Amino acid sequence: MAGENEEAVRDKQVILRDYVSGFPKDTNVEVRESTMKLRLLEGSNGFLVKNLYLSCDPYIKFRMTKPDVPDYVQAFRPGSLITGYGVARVLESGHPDFKKGDLLWGLTGWEEYTLITAPETCFKIEHTNVPLSYYTGLLGMTGMAGFFEVCSPKKGETVFISAASGAVGQLVGQFAKLFGCYVVGSAGSKEKVDLLKNKFGFDDAFNYKEELDLDAALKRIYFENVGGKMLDAVLLSMKLHGRIAVCGMISQYNLEQPEGIHNLTNFILKRIRMEGFVVSDYYHLYPKFLETVLPQFKEGKIVYVEDIAECLENAPTALIGLFSGRNVGKQVVVVSHE
Ligand code: NAP
Repeated sequence: MAGENEEAVRDKQVILRDYVSGFPKDTNVEVRESTMKLRLLEGSNGFLVKNLYLSCDPYIKFRMTKPDVPDYVQAFRPGSLITGYGVARVLESGHPDFKKGDLLWGLTGWEEYTLITAPETCFKIEHTNVPLSYYTGLLGMTGMAGFFEVCSPKKGETVFISAASGAVGQLVGQFAKLFGCYVVGSAGSKEKVDLLKNKFGFDDAFNYKEELDLDAALKRIYFENVGGKMLDAVLLSMKLHGRIAVCGMISQYNLEQPEGIHNLTNFILKRIRMEGFVVSDYYHLYPKFLETVLPQFKEGKIVYVEDIAECLENAPTALIGLFSGRNVGKQVVVVSHE
């Protein structure tokens, strides 16, 4: 058991103040200061970590919303700590596979120090030849799983990606280009469209806020990040035997009433297959993903743009910004540069 005389350290925490309804607001969360004793309970097989980087993910909003029954995403309760993916350094460990000083990525708290009691949700970082913050985006595992496992692509096929300049989209596009596909992306500003064409090497890109004419870019694979009107338009322009990997539907997350989809007959006429997935379904492939992706990052075949928010105080604004497209690239929060 922790000794009574140990020095307690400051632990800033991001707390859900009240449930989100509609679009999340700054006032739904607050940053509070508490204290923590840096000591693991005796017999624990978890670890105590110092958080370094946190991942801002759209799905966190679901967990901030009053749960329906059944509660698929395990909602936070008002007054509780926000949790999510992050990168951290182990300060103390009761787990045989992790020792003091190790780096890991996995589920942690939006705070300075976290006592992790579910070690099975964490992975050791053994390769540090990419910036550590890249692990907040799981080194592209979502994009790899969705593109290669769900879409079963063939060289030469046309791929369309929505929210293409974001954390997942930018990597899907580059994986698809390296694989030999023709890649088109959509994003919500001129700056982002320029990034797609000039930095990530997309063959074509457009600003969906200015045009939603997809007929010019007939596609066989659609990597779905936004849903709604975009999905409806895509169904009209899919090719025969097209595949749609449903990664996310961010345009629907904050609506009281989700938009309807009208062009469903295209599923029959064009023999389209559509499949949703969650990245954690593919954790077993993580070692294989790493083998492929790490050399690609190292050799500069893949580039990765991050949007860095410094310190926990800026975490609420960074999270909320995902829903207005404020972020350019993967939104990361730096808790500590060590
Ligand atoms: P991101 O793309 O880095 O950031 C979200 C982006 O979505 C914004 O920058 C904005 O870009 C776009 N957006 C926001 N509201 C929109 C709207 N109403 N209509 C169209 N676009 C909108 O985020 P991410 O982490 O890569 O996530 C992308 C999608 O993948 C999300 O739907 C997320 O839930 C999903 N996801 C799924 C998994 C999984 O395991 N299935 C894992 C990670 C993420 P623009 O400026 O281009 O509008």
